[in-house]
Amino acid sequence: MIEEQTSPKKKGGRKGKTSGKEESLSNETKKPKITRIPPYEPGQTQPFPLSRSKVSNFLQCPRCFYLDVRHKISPPSGPILTLNGAVDKLLKTEFGLLRQTQQPHPELVRAGVSAVPFQHPDLAIWRDNRKGARFLHQPTGFEIYGAIDDLLMDPATDKIHVIDFKCTAKQQDVTSLEGDYAPILKRQIEFYAFILKKMGLDVSETAYFFYSNGCADRPGFHGRLDFRISVVPHQCDTSWIEPTLRQIKDVLEAPKAPEPSEKCGHCKYLAKAKELGP
Ligand code: SF4
Repeated sequence: MIEEQTSPKKKGGRKGKTSGKEESLSNETKKPKITRIPPYEPGQTQPFPLSRSKVSNFLQCPRCFYLDVRHKISPPSGPILTLNGAVDKLLKTEFGLLRQTQQPHPELVRAGVSAVPFQHPDLAIWRDNRKGARFLHQPTGFEIYGAIDDLLMDPATDKIHVIDFKCTAKQQDVTSLEGDYAPILKRQIEFYAFILKKMGLDVSETAYFFYSNGCADRPGFHGRLDFRISVVPHQCDTSWIEPTLRQIKDVLEAPKAPEPSEKCGHCKYLAKAKELGP
């Protein structure tokens, strides 16, 4: 199947029963049969699945995105960060337990956030990399989607907050988003907030990054890695998303690939290598 369509149901609310819910949901997400998404065809009328990461790729280099989405020539991928994946999985388990008792995570409480893990029958689908939270953007025909880490609900406001788990190893505590990757991380969480809002959820502008910061300042490894946790709030600005989707549509409908990005030297390298000959 092409990335399966999911239809969001009405929110279950934090007061709903949780017993057995996660279990039955895991059955829904079992045995996914994956078929690669076919290349985008200019003028196509059927919805085209467009992931959060593809949108991010477009913003980094429209040419690379075009080669990938129109011609299925994918950029080389990096190694899979299995340690990050392990932390992510454990945190999901931790938040899952707190969801059952509707308790806030102690690290969030320490950061002054009293929101609790959100309960919804479709949560497992929204967190599934092969499915994700989805919304059909009518003006472009893109079925945009992304897999969230988790959602919180503030009992005082009933607003939903997107939370994203990040893993790093820095000397200093992470108290803000800085550096080259900051815009990418911000756009990631903003994209999720945008989709969920469009799906009809009452999503707050305030999202949270839950940082696990590996401590390299211990006297040895001894088979154990400690983490310092910090919670970094982010005020989502989703105003860039609609114009970006329209730009993507224009690029995909164009007969020629866009120019290479000035920031990436690979295309220049290849062109120069070709010019010099064998
Ligand atoms: S400039 Fe870099 S990112 Fe863009 S198409 Fe070339 S190799 Fe890909």
